[in-house]
Amino acid sequence: MYDVIVIGSGFGGAITGCRLAEKGLKVLILERGQWWDKNTYPRKPGDAWIWNNDNPEKMHGWLDMRRFPHMAVAQGAGVGGGSLIYANISCNAPQNAFNYGWPAAITYNGLLPYYDRVAKFMNVQKVPANQWNPRMKLMQEGATKAGFGDRFGQLELAVSFDPNLNYNFDNPPSETNSKEFTNAQGVKQGTCAHLGQCDIGCPVYAKNTLDKNYIPWAQKKGAEVRELSLVSNIEPIANGYKIYYSDLKAQSMDRTETATRVIVASGSLGSTELLLRCKNATKTLPNISGALGQGWSSNGDFLTPAFYFGRTINPDRGPTISTSINFLDGVQNGQKFWIEDGGIPNLFSGYYKDISARLAQDPNQHSLFEGLQAANIIQHLINLSTSLDLFKNIMPWFAQGVDASDAQLLLDQKGKLDMKWDITKSLPMFNEIASMHKKLSDATSGHPIPNPAWNNSHDLITPHPLGGCRMADSATDGVVNDKGEVFGYKNLFVADGAIIPHALGVNPSRTIGALAERIAELMQ
Ligand SMILES: Cc1cc2nc3c(=O)[nH]c(=O)nc-3n(C[C@H](O)[C@H](O)[C@H](O)COP(=O)(O)OP(=O)(O)OC[C@H]3O[C@@H](n4cnc5c(N)ncnc54)[C@H](O)[C@@H]3O)c2cc1C
Repeated sequence: MYDVIVIGSGFGGAITGCRLAEKGLKVLILERGQWWDKNTYPRKPGDAWIWNNDNPEKMHGWLDMRRFPHMAVAQGAGVGGGSLIYANISCNAPQNAFNYGWPAAITYNGLLPYYDRVAKFMNVQKVPANQWNPRMKLMQEGATKAGFGDRFGQLELAVSFDPNLNYNFDNPPSETNSKEFTNAQGVKQGTCAHLGQCDIGCPVYAKNTLDKNYIPWAQKKGAEVRELSLVSNIEPIANGYKIYYSDLKAQSMDRTETATRVIVASGSLGSTELLLRCKNATKTLPNISGALGQGWSSNGDFLTPAFYFGRTINPDRGPTISTSINFLDGVQNGQKFWIEDGGIPNLFSGYYKDISARLAQDPNQHSLFEGLQAANIIQHLINLSTSLDLFKNIMPWFAQGVDASDAQLLLDQKGKLDMKWDITKSLPMFNEIASMHKKLSDATSGHPIPNPAWNNSHDLITPHPLGGCRMADSATDGVVNDKGEVFGYKNLFVADGAIIPHALGVNPSRTIGALAERIAELMQ
């Protein structure tokens, strides 16, 4: 029997698992995804891109994309959770995010030491002054020209930089610009070479991901990490809980383990889905609060790509995001949000290289292009697209904001996770962001590219799901207390984005990490 089983190895799971192992507890971390490294990161067609929740035995890839009516959610799957795929922004939530909706014991000032602990362990840094990329300069120019220069700032990133690197963004980046070093947890990494691949796995390990810090440290302190272990049920037993999981590697669906304490840290969707199943389907945890699934938020994510004729932006070079223009004080018609620069890994170049190589071997490889027979036409398109460099002139204006946080997660009749999302109350905030994106691109002679998914049906996609098992002072208002313990179930905890009671309006990982640090510290 373990002292603690942690379900999931993202910000909530890795951090609680690590700190509890440091306390000398016997910890097991069960993670549905695999360990990833530079030899396995997906790059080409046919690689393990997709986590398919309907068929995880066969498809347990990099990205879990869930589609609900008018809202899609992107999440990482792997040892390290969302840190593997994320854009490295590590920031505190604004102080005013704590003015409502939290248990009384959770305050901004009270969380500060935990925020600092996460920032230190993740070794956060800003892009050195000599390595600003064109997007950062465009952000600053847009802010200044639109009259918001004092709201522009650099963000802290969980990335390791070499301050002595002098990289010219007109040149393609090269891995040879990275310098190897050993981090504070004894793990080998490399410095950032501005390869622009943060979201698909950094080939030089410049990202300070959880599998490079908290997780190896947890292992050094005795924690066991089991990859490809998909948990399906939690059942109370005499001295704790029994966990049911599938071993996806061995294709064995009936594994169990027991522990005196369980920490559910499967992310906003994952933890809520698992607990909904335990409450309503297997009925092993029937007394979980009726607030389960309520108050879900997209964290107001919104993207407006803009085209810049004759101006080189190269969003496929440099860290994915590095700067913000901050309107979180509500100065824009009461709506709280911030604007960020966005980056896009140039997947097409990898695709083109792969397709070109395969075509060179066999020009008649029709199987590469289902339904298309003329390989020479495809080759021509590939040459054309590569030479045009589709990405060169696009600025992805990105943002997060404080939405109404009023969506609901639930199980449908087939037992699959579903969402009721209604944009009505959040629409003024999204419109304010869209209008600011236009203002900033107008000020810099950019041309916003119409987005039919937004213009026609207000369809959105978020990488920042929050809520579903929110913290509160009572079971009437939430699912867990300020220490992450589930109301009505002693020694059962939730510690991840699911417990955040409403939108933060900024990238949430450091807040999730700070709450996880606090939960682990206060756990008896
Ligand atoms: C493309 C992208 C970019 C992002 N950029 C940023 C950024 O720059 N800054 C920022 O702060 N945030 C960013 N985020 C969001 C950030 O990744 C999440 O907020 C964060 O990872 C959430 O932490 P968590 O602990 O709640 O869940 P996760 O990190 O998602 O961890 C949950 C873990 O549980 C596992 N799991 C799920 N279900 C089960 C199960 N049943 N059994 C076992 N394991 C399970 C998952 O595989 C996953 O590893 C980004 C996200 C994406 C997708």
